[in-house]
Amino acid sequence: MIVRTIPALRRAVDGFRRKRAIIALVPTMGALHDGHVSLVQAAKRRADKVIVSIFVNPTQFAPTEDFGSYPRTWRADVAKLVAEKADIIWHPGGKIMYPDGFATRIVTEGPATAGLEDRFRPHFFGGVATVVGKLFAQVRPDFAIFGEKDFQQLRVVARMAADLDLGVKVIGSKTIRERDGLAMSSRNVYLSAEERRVAPELHRAMKGSAKLLRAGTEIGAAMAAGAEIIKAAGFALDYFELRNAETLAPITSLKDGPLRILAAARLGTTRLIDNIAV
Ligand code: AMP
Repeated sequence: MIVRTIPALRRAVDGFRRKRAIIALVPTMGALHDGHVSLVQAAKRRADKVIVSIFVNPTQFAPTEDFGSYPRTWRADVAKLVAEKADIIWHPGGKIMYPDGFATRIVTEGPATAGLEDRFRPHFFGGVATVVGKLFAQVRPDFAIFGEKDFQQLRVVARMAADLDLGVKVIGSKTIRERDGLAMSSRNVYLSAEERRVAPELHRAMKGSAKLLRAGTEIGAAMAAGAEIIKAAGFALDYFELRNAETLAPITSLKDGPLRILAAARLGTTRLIDNIAV
């Protein structure tokens, strides 16, 4: 069922609730790939009813970013969600999410100011938190599933939901990769053939550093080795960092774990982000 208005969404969700269904939400911006599908499947395993939202959220894009050209593949998205037996596709228009006079924004701190994505996309987490806060208020799911692919975002959204007592449990789901290790992303279609060939080096570099860390290599040297692989492959590196996986705080000793390596790098005009556990 495709739903485009808030009253219709409320009616459908109220119907599920009367049947005491456990309801899951999977927020997306469409251009669905197997990573998104894995989130829907994880939701299906845990919930009675699964709602997938498709909304390309303008407030999380800077004016210089790709809002206008972000891939939009509506018919293919619907076919995938029908195949996965999603119960509702929530597809609000821009005027429903941001009506004239809209004037509220959720301000995020903590994991949103960890000095990772926020350093390069300062507008981003405010836009994400605001739209996800709205989606949670509209759908009122029991839980929502987010990909570990966007690891800082997962932490920001979980923090926001807890801080605002939204009553939505935020669950992370593992990153789905291409066979060569490249994390699936809607933006991978921007890569030229040559860039696509180089792109898996980002994951290879993170795995290399993780292996060195596990073997006892000093943190600075282990991380420098990974950063070097990325630069040598031709990326412009935004960050390549070892952090505490829970707080995202920088770590000075391997005892500060659980550990996560988080990276962002640009190939031409395409920006890739990825992360792995150590
Ligand atoms: P997006 O449509 O890119 O905003 O992503 C919607 C959701 O899918 C977010 O929770 C992402 O973290 C998640 N996601 C994106 N790519 C992947 C992937 N390769 N594996 C798992 N989840 C993903």
